[in-house]
Amino acid sequence: MEVSRHWRLKHQRYSLVGEVCPHCEIKIFPPRDICPDCGKDARTLHHFSGRGEVYSFTCVYDAPAGFEENVPYTIALVKLEEGPMVTAQLTDLDQRTVEIGMPVEMVTRKMRADGERGMLVYGYKFRPRLASASP
Ligand SMILES: [Zn+2]
Repeated sequence: MEVSRHWRLKHQRYSLVGEVCPHCEIKIFPPRDICPDCGKDARTLHHFSGRGEVYSFTCVYDAPAGFEENVPYTIALVKLEEGPMVTAQLTDLDQRTVEIGMPVEMVTRKMRADGERGMLVYGYKFRPRLASASP
């Protein structure tokens, strides 16, 4: 169980990897090997673009152990371009106001230090997607 979870984290480190159902073509994230739509086997890997928009969000002032140094932070439900919803922390907000529908993109960040083993765990966060800068 533990090994499998870390394997997945490792493989999600630089891109958002989910699955695509070969039967109904629905995109699945996080990967679960079973299509949530038709219930059949879905083990075909799919690399998501990492782009999406804020569907809803909440500000966290009271963090669970390991996250204290980041307080306060914003957790958003992000609707990916491909359809699935992902819950993740927003980052690089600076003074920006988070809004429903705000375009965001995935970035890989250090999530927390594992207290017992001093291990760094990496994961994804989302940051505001910058409008393409015109010269
Ligand atoms: Zn399916």
